[in-house]
Amino acid sequence: MPNPELDPKRAEPEPAESRPVAQPIDWGDFRDHLATADREGHRKWLFPKQPSGSFYRGRTLVSWALLIILFTGPFIRIRGNPLLMLNIVERKFIILGQIFWPQDMIISAVTILVFLTGIIVFTAAFGRLWCGWVCPQTVLMEMVFRKIEYLIEGDSFAQRALAKAPWTSKKMLKRALKHGVFLALSFLVGNTLLAYIIGSGQLFHIVTDNPARHLHGLGFMVLFALLFYAIFARFREQACTFICPYGRLQSTLLDENSIVVAYDFKRGEKRGPLRNSQTLEQRKAGGTGDCIECRQCVTVCPTGIDIRNGTQMECVHCTACIDACDSIMDKVGQRRGLIRYASLNGIERGETLRFTPRLAGYCVVLAALVAFWGFLVFTRSDVSTTLLRAPGALFQQMPDGHFSNLYTIKVVNKTSRAMPISLKLESPAGDLQVMGANLVAPPEQLAQASVLIELDRSRMLPGKTQLRVGVYSQGRKLETLKTVFIGPRDDTK
Ligand code: SF4
Ligand code: SF4
Repeated sequence: MPNPELDPKRAEPEPAESRPVAQPIDWGDFRDHLATADREGHRKWLFPKQPSGSFYRGRTLVSWALLIILFTGPFIRIRGNPLLMLNIVERKFIILGQIFWPQDMIISAVTILVFLTGIIVFTAAFGRLWCGWVCPQTVLMEMVFRKIEYLIEGDSFAQRALAKAPWTSKKMLKRALKHGVFLALSFLVGNTLLAYIIGSGQLFHIVTDNPARHLHGLGFMVLFALLFYAIFARFREQACTFICPYGRLQSTLLDENSIVVAYDFKRGEKRGPLRNSQTLEQRKAGGTGDCIECRQCVTVCPTGIDIRNGTQMECVHCTACIDACDSIMDKVGQRRGLIRYASLNGIERGETLRFTPRLAGYCVVLAALVAFWGFLVFTRSDVSTTLLRAPGALFQQMPDGHFSNLYTIKVVNKTSRAMPISLKLESPAGDLQVMGANLVAPPEQLAQASVLIELDRSRMLPGKTQLRVGVYSQGRKLETLKTVFIGPRDDTK
């Protein structure tokens, strides 16, 4: 193949100034621009209308339950430990009252695996159900901050009017009240996050002790409060569309069977306004679909998109457009569900949502993974123990003819209570002695001691003998350790 660089007939490169710099933007095509940016690229502030309807009521109830869990989580104790604590600094994690240490590598690896697989399986089956119903960003934004905004500034129309109004004392009062409440709430959210990281006890200590001793902690409290204020007062839906990777992953995880918030284009198209002079039958006969082009689904959308354009990255599946469209369908005497939870296949084949074998399979996989994780967590030993031969020590023959080996035992106590530890030589028969005082592993710390094991020659194999040692605490067996006992190779000794 000729090298184009050496080809004398190759075309001269176009002068830079004559080349088009970019394709012109098609403002009629939703794919060509952001719903939240204007033609100059400035942000378009959204004033979504407050939704109302069965989904909104359901989400309100769910969000109340989640908010109670979120704000009380750091104070709930299970066996003296918090429900959830993610102390990244000290690499100490507590989930459902169970402490996880760097030694719990297998559980950590399975947790990450379950998490990633769960996201993939869950999204493939149920779309972004998480985003709309459970994600803390959506719950706090739509169910707390947005509701306070509706309460203080009114619904969409009033908010728009207030934004355009001159700075009168009434506007200043409303804005000051709103941002004051937002700041206070952000402080509460920031402190809750800090309590999940360092623990509620430590947070309480920072708040009540001499501030000069906790400048770092206080700095983080202020930083977190300002961060959440910036997110919920200003950044808002952009956290989902620009920052969160989950929305972007969606396009690779969803398929035509995934359940998403979807517009039934077969039923809705071709859309057209409802005229008083026209009956529904006449409308249908004229080839017009059920969408009456009222744009209520767009007006309520907190990310500013039009769901009738299809599944989009910006859609957080908040269901507000379902409620809005259902209320319109009720008004015009049409059946509900023009926008609903549905899969593409469901819409194209006109099927209602059903529990398909594929969905059942996904649920089984998810349940199995979670069960496996639960099994690992709840059958996990309270201690992590190693029993190793003391470095450099050889076997010794005692005056009575027995042989002895010296070991070092290390016990990591993963609980928050002191644990007395006892050892028992389970096989073969012999003597085991823990040297020094009673072995007690302090809470969340490491304890170590020397251990002397004696065996009768008749119980030993030439060279190495396998040992099994049981680790007990207060009569309860915690684990079984395996090690080797070194003896003479020559059987005649
Ligand atoms: S709310 Fe329903 S009827 Fe109105 S524009 Fe949206 S899809 Fe069409
Ligand atoms: S398109 Fe509907 S479900 Fe998606 S974010 Fe907008 S209102 Fe919520």
